[in-house]
Amino acid sequence: MITLEEFIINFTNIKLRIERACEESGRDISEVQLLPVTKTHPVQAIEYALHVGLTSVGENRVQEVKEKKSESSGNSTWELIGHLQSNKVNEAVRLFDRIQSVDSLKLIRKLNTACEVSGKVLPIFLQCNAGEDPNKYGFGEASMSEALDAVLGSTYLKCEGLMTIAPLDDDPSSAKACFEKLRMIRDSLVSEYKIELNELSMGMTQDLEEAIAAGSTMIRVGSALYGSRA
Ligand SMILES: *Cc1c(COP(=O)(O)O)cnc(C)c1O
Repeated sequence: MITLEEFIINFTNIKLRIERACEESGRDISEVQLLPVTKTHPVQAIEYALHVGLTSVGENRVQEVKEKKSESSGNSTWELIGHLQSNKVNEAVRLFDRIQSVDSLKLIRKLNTACEVSGKVLPIFLQCNAGEDPNKYGFGEASMSEALDAVLGSTYLKCEGLMTIAPLDDDPSSAKACFEKLRMIRDSLVSEYKIELNELSMGMTQDLEEAIAAGSTMIRVGSALYGSRA
């Protein structure tokens, strides 16, 4: 694990990247939230984030968050950004403040039932496989209306936006195309359904500039803040 001093340097560098990307696309930096991705790192990663004022963290495993929540003294909010298995839905509803990785109709049904039982309204994002990557979870573009219909019919789920992960590719133009696609899908759902879908969670260490240019409101950054994962 890196030291707090190293983390602060990394954080400063990421803020500069965000500023520069916003400048280039004529956006205000207040429109882009930085979600530190603390998965695989010890609980200090969450304390470092809190130290610089980042109060929300991204994690991808239920069991890991269960352990970290019991060790962590701070007041973070927790966002699930990884695929959720059906048998972990009840725990996930208890542990997370928002689930960004809602990727199937079955998961929508199970989440809604679990929330009904616990009397909790859960904010979610729909995950879209906008880059049509066979190795990624998420609804295909053609299924997004059906997915949104299902969430709008789920009393205990509140859809706040869309999330995507760009295909693994060294060529930045493929990330750019994926992010522009998600933005376009969002815009057409908004005009079709006359609802708000304000959040676009897209962009990570490698492609945050392309994401910000395409309209990202939340970049999820792990390795550039905490170093590479073991
Ligand atoms: C791990 C992960 C990230 C962070 O990736 P980095 O390349 O380390 O910034 C972002 N989003 C999701 C969904 C992830 O699983």
